[in-house]
Amino acid sequence: MTPQLPVEALERLEKAERRQRRETAKRGLQALPVSVLGLWLLQRGLCGCGCDTPLNPLVEWDEKSPPDDFIVIAHVLARGSRGTHDRKNVELWRHACNKRDAGPDTSGAASVKRFTPDMQRKLLASTETRDPKKWQRAGKIPQPKVSKLSREYRKSLKVYSGKT
Ligand SMILES: [Zn+2]
Repeated sequence: MTPQLPVEALERLEKAERRQRRETAKRGLQALPVSVLGLWLLQRGLCGCGCDTPLNPLVEWDEKSPPDDFIVIAHVLARGSRGTHDRKNVELWRHACNKRDAGPDTSGAASVKRFTPDMQRKLLASTETRDPKKWQRAGKIPQPKVSKLSREYRKSLKVYSGKT
């Protein structure tokens, strides 16, 4: 049985939804109205990240010590990765879960949701842009050896011994 969402909490979340929608539109991404009450019912009052913790609509925001259980409008695919603001990409999450997944040290099943194609491209790019010359300097790729029988070798001997 889904718990009731108190009117004050609904109003606060609706306001947050409008603000997130505006911010998303400013980024030039799709931004459509999402029913907070609809999300609440669909998620049965549970956190959408996958932890299934019951959301507590009575928890209020505190700037000094943000409460873990504060409910936020979360974007499953982060907007930094071109995530949209619409029914498919918006969920109600606990603040702690949202913070965990938005941070650099993502862990847990929910972070897989946010392992986006964009991130994969970035990771690939970071390995591809390694400079092979730097590897050589670091001695990781052996320089080709000059054979003692080669002309180059004999030439270099002549230079060192001063013979012409
Ligand atoms: Zn969660």
